[in-house]
Amino acid sequence: MLTRTNQKNGEELSILGFGCMRFPMKGSGIDEPRSIAMIRNSIEKGVNYFDTAYFYHNGKSESLLGAALEGGYRERVKIATKLPPFMVTKLEGAKKILETQLTKLRTNYIDYYLLHMLSDKPTFDRMESIGVIEWMEQLKKEGTIRNIGFSFHGSKSDFEELIRAYPWDFCQIQYNYLDENNQATKSGLELAHSLGIPVVIMEPLRGGRLVNQLPDEVLKEFRKCDKSKTPAEWALRWIWNHPGVNVVLSGMGNEAQIEENVRIAGDAEPDSLTEAELGMFDRVKAILLEKTKIPCTACGYCMPCPFGVNIPGCFSAYNDKYLLNDRRNRFKYFQTLGVLSKQPAFASLCTECGKCESHCPQNIQIRKELKTVKKEMEGIIFRPVVKIARKLMKIT
Ligand code: SF4
Ligand code: SF4
Repeated sequence: MLTRTNQKNGEELSILGFGCMRFPMKGSGIDEPRSIAMIRNSIEKGVNYFDTAYFYHNGKSESLLGAALEGGYRERVKIATKLPPFMVTKLEGAKKILETQLTKLRTNYIDYYLLHMLSDKPTFDRMESIGVIEWMEQLKKEGTIRNIGFSFHGSKSDFEELIRAYPWDFCQIQYNYLDENNQATKSGLELAHSLGIPVVIMEPLRGGRLVNQLPDEVLKEFRKCDKSKTPAEWALRWIWNHPGVNVVLSGMGNEAQIEENVRIAGDAEPDSLTEAELGMFDRVKAILLEKTKIPCTACGYCMPCPFGVNIPGCFSAYNDKYLLNDRRNRFKYFQTLGVLSKQPAFASLCTECGKCESHCPQNIQIRKELKTVKKEMEGIIFRPVVKIARKLMKIT
């Protein structure tokens, strides 16, 4: 297992991290003995970074990880878990959540603590205003939290603002060869790296869709380049090829995935892909782009929208619906466009002012396309449902 050094604190982190949101199931619950065995086996093979969250597996992921790390395993690994800002309206609430997390994880410290889905500056400001940031800093001084970070699913401009807003110890972004120009983007990754901030990658396989739902033309390109490599291997190698990446999380749901990922992580050095392999990825990306409904490259030239629409984010979620046959496309749309954040960015916020269109190098009729996105992704029950959800979560 290769490691890369955390440039902030000198820790050697395995380049493969275990994402604890896809444990094998038995009936309606986690298959506990099997999941525990998988976690311990991965530790024996060199994995030392485990990423969970307060509500993964309906709140059971942290408990399972805590149980798996009993018997001397805890000291061998780093635990990352997350505080969900959308569930926190008062500091007391945050304190209770952390207390529960420590109990579930059977530990008295969290190595890497993240604000979960912190995707815009106003949410950070809200956390700061109710004292959460100061409290986390105090916990860091006391050793209860070792590193403070955030996980991100917003737009490139929001990422740039957030990464500069605070001296983060690390950050976690969605990144893969399909998302090179989406969400934080490649330039966001490089910005974090240039600021000396370690980057953890999530969704390297887009929840498995870069493995199971690729068009035949893409599979042919992969095979032509090297028959022995699977789509998962290509996707992971592409990410590890970036020197700015510290850890890649994989939600490993069975033993075979651990075997395969550990094998790849044994020699995936930065800058190790050949010119021919990088050329193959260019062709793969071109094929996927050609299949997209709206030819948005997520360049961001049309942004910011004065009414808060995340234009590339809306188009990306809509394109995925067709490109990857993703059944969770609506959920993703709600999640990435901030259903629970202070500043939602949905297509329906477009007032058709037209300010954006002249900036688009792809000549996309943004207003017309946003109407399509609104119709297909939001539907008629969207607004009332969002209103109720936000009211319940006390988000104004
Ligand atoms: S046309 Fe719509 S998306 Fe474009 S800037 Fe105006 S409100 Fe924003
Ligand atoms: S300018 Fe055009 S291509 Fe670029 S992000 Fe906006 S809509 Fe997409």
